[in-house]
Amino acid sequence: MSTPPLASGPQGPSALRPLLDTVLHALDTGARARGGPLPAGGPGVVAARLRETVGEILPDQGDPHALHALVHAFAEGAADPAHPLCAAHLHCPPLAVATAADLAASALNPSLDSWDQAPAASELETMVAQTLAREIYETGQTATPDSLITTGGTESNQLALLLAREACGGTVRLVTGANAHHSLPRAAWLLGLPEPVVVPAPGGTLDPAGLDEALTHLPRPSLVAATAGTTDAGLIDPLPEIAARCAAHGARLHIDAAYGGGLLFSDQHRTRLTGLDTADTVTLDLHKLGWQPVAAGLLAVRDTRDLTALRHRADYLNAADDTEAGLPDLLGRSLRTTRRPDVLKLAVTLKTLGRRGLAALVDQVCARAREFAALVHDHPGLELHAPPAISTVLFRPAGATDATVAAVRRALLTDGRAVLGRARLDGRLWLKATLLNPATGPDDLAALLHLVAARRATLAEGHTPR
Ligand SMILES: *Cc1c(COP(=O)(O)O)cnc(C)c1O
Repeated sequence: MSTPPLASGPQGPSALRPLLDTVLHALDTGARARGGPLPAGGPGVVAARLRETVGEILPDQGDPHALHALVHAFAEGAADPAHPLCAAHLHCPPLAVATAADLAASALNPSLDSWDQAPAASELETMVAQTLAREIYETGQTATPDSLITTGGTESNQLALLLAREACGGTVRLVTGANAHHSLPRAAWLLGLPEPVVVPAPGGTLDPAGLDEALTHLPRPSLVAATAGTTDAGLIDPLPEIAARCAAHGARLHIDAAYGGGLLFSDQHRTRLTGLDTADTVTLDLHKLGWQPVAAGLLAVRDTRDLTALRHRADYLNAADDTEAGLPDLLGRSLRTTRRPDVLKLAVTLKTLGRRGLAALVDQVCARAREFAALVHDHPGLELHAPPAISTVLFRPAGATDATVAAVRRALLTDGRAVLGRARLDGRLWLKATLLNPATGPDDLAALLHLVAARRATLAEGHTPR
């Protein structure tokens, strides 16, 4: 058998071209076979169909048609975030230009653990990291912001806790709101930190008075983690008040802006992040309000000196004499070793769209959320939780039990008609629409509400919820 073609090198582009045609064709046939936002039938049916199509994963004799068959099955069985009725999670439809850039990253496969594997990629990463750090820390309160490219909010939050622990001399107590992302207490567990203190978040945002109270009684050092854009409701904690409390008590501040950080690009919305630049560290996810394929995370630090805690030597990657001779030392910019150049798609997106292009997308999804909330508000059979803070709308069939709310969501999934999330807030279960698709139109929103109301009616007619 001849060597399978490689993606880079002189033959790379000509080897890829027909394969890309195959992939694009299979994406198309797969999506048509699905015909909706997700495959109908539920997990058992989807799994059986996939197994049937794929057959043996590692046959003795290779199958030249595997690419088409698998991509078709992958697309047929996908929950497509570009479908207007796929709106459960912070799961964005990626921009075509970002996905195209990601192909080049895959083809060339630079790895960001040493300069000799990524000469241009490492410089591009520096440029993007600096640019985004300055976007967050714009007010000049600090001359030396920096940022690390991560796999997402979870890794960024872990790094934020690690940097805090090291800056505080080996241990720190995490203080979060009850509304904080689950990855924060988990990171405290991972890093062997004391049990986190959880401050009440009445109405979904961290209560500054409760925080003050907690910080008054806690031995130092503390790291307060606030949220700008909660995963459940898109709510933004009162950042300036929290920053003032942290300053008064000498606590470090981390802001998890995994979701809300994207508002920075918008003149219309960025003032809602006032106070963000007071944080020692900030988490930002551009695979949410940034329309990137996964993964595209960022951890920004106000003071680049905090990053010295990550310094690390491995002779084969950053020998001291290589570093002295001028080879950039990349190992201290992550806890990972081999590292994908996620920065290429980011750089391409930022430059292709510009601040205005990104702002238009942010403004669009925020406006859609307000329209959707207005439709819910005016619908006699539905109850709205609250006007949206970013692009998340919580609602429920009026007068329904929590069990019915959950059953409506599962019925829509099984029907393959709509993908909605769920969130428990104020002691009740809500349906969650996270609107991240800038192409979603008013008619799509009306259709979504129609589906929910219709499904609720059939369940109310005595069909057993399951
Ligand atoms: C999504 C999210 C995270 C986790 O980010 P991942 O990219 O999924 O790891 C953390 N915090 C908040 C507020 C989030 O919304």
